[in-house]
Amino acid sequence: MTRTTPPRPADIAVVLPRLAPLARTATRLHPRPGSPSPQESSVGGPLLWPSAEPWPHCEGTHRAPALLPATSPADVRLLREIRAAARNRPQGSRSYSPQEHAVVDRINAGRPCPEGPVALLAVAQLYVHEVPDLRPPEGADLLQVLWCAFDHPGENMPRTELFWRSAAAVGDVLTAPPQPPAIQYDDYLPEPCLVFPEQITEYPRAVELDPDLRAQVQAWSARQKTGAKPGSADYGAEDTYYDRELSVAPGWKAGGWAPWSFTDPAPQDCRVCGSRMEPMLTIATKERHVDMHSWTPYEDQAAVSMDTDYPDPARPTMITIGDGYNQQIYACPGAPNHPHTALMQ
Ligand SMILES: [Zn+2]
Ligand SMILES: [Zn+2]
Repeated sequence: MTRTTPPRPADIAVVLPRLAPLARTATRLHPRPGSPSPQESSVGGPLLWPSAEPWPHCEGTHRAPALLPATSPADVRLLREIRAAARNRPQGSRSYSPQEHAVVDRINAGRPCPEGPVALLAVAQLYVHEVPDLRPPEGADLLQVLWCAFDHPGENMPRTELFWRSAAAVGDVLTAPPQPPAIQYDDYLPEPCLVFPEQITEYPRAVELDPDLRAQVQAWSARQKTGAKPGSADYGAEDTYYDRELSVAPGWKAGGWAPWSFTDPAPQDCRVCGSRMEPMLTIATKERHVDMHSWTPYEDQAAVSMDTDYPDPARPTMITIGDGYNQQIYACPGAPNHPHTALMQ
């Protein structure tokens, strides 16, 4: 199974040739629920982690808000099973049974935040040969992404750690990595997904363009409104048509341009060498947005997102960043092992 993004509704580099040099490739990952092995690229799947190497732990401060007690990976999996089972029953019998209620109540009561180091959670692993927009350091062909599933003081999303390695050098694979005794939110536990990488072309969000070019893009976007039907995607949205349809794809991806949304662009510079960092990996809440239908792959267009669908086809990884945003990871272009940064966008 592959995933194929439909062609963009216009070739914007032909319409506005000044955009042509700004074209960048990105690899959409298209994560979908499945049972990945350590030898496959995945989101939320098992990592090809050497049994001889200690599993990383976080030594930060772990506290959960009083009204939202911490949970655990095992409880989140159980809760998801109960929800899925209920949704799959015929309409009218989807309420929880007394036994299910008892389990859900027990899980909702939460569990204490752990004292001491907390095992990181596997978030993704990507083989470079499948994801061409990754830029590995010399000798590496596998990227592994883990995070501590807590918001640390002063931070508003999980702290990620990146590991580059050579798959051939791994040897014996760790089969049962330690699990954190607690995580802050169920939204921080990724559901195991296979990925179906697809390379596409992106352009910067209008807000990243110089004022002249931005004005041209907005004028062009406004003309697209002509003839648009009320209620259609490009009706009354003249300033955002380019942003929505032509610049940056929704969902998980490697490379490309940053999905700036609620803040102005904040360029990220490498704290070791000062180079301007570039978008490396987007950890997304949603694969689709209601106002960005044209990015939905042909293969998924029949699966209209229904309230009753579980999991939601728009959110196959079950991860939520903030109120539904992205965690954008930036890397140093010249030295992939320099520390990365991450912004919510
Ligand atoms: Zn931590
Ligand atoms: Zn650097």
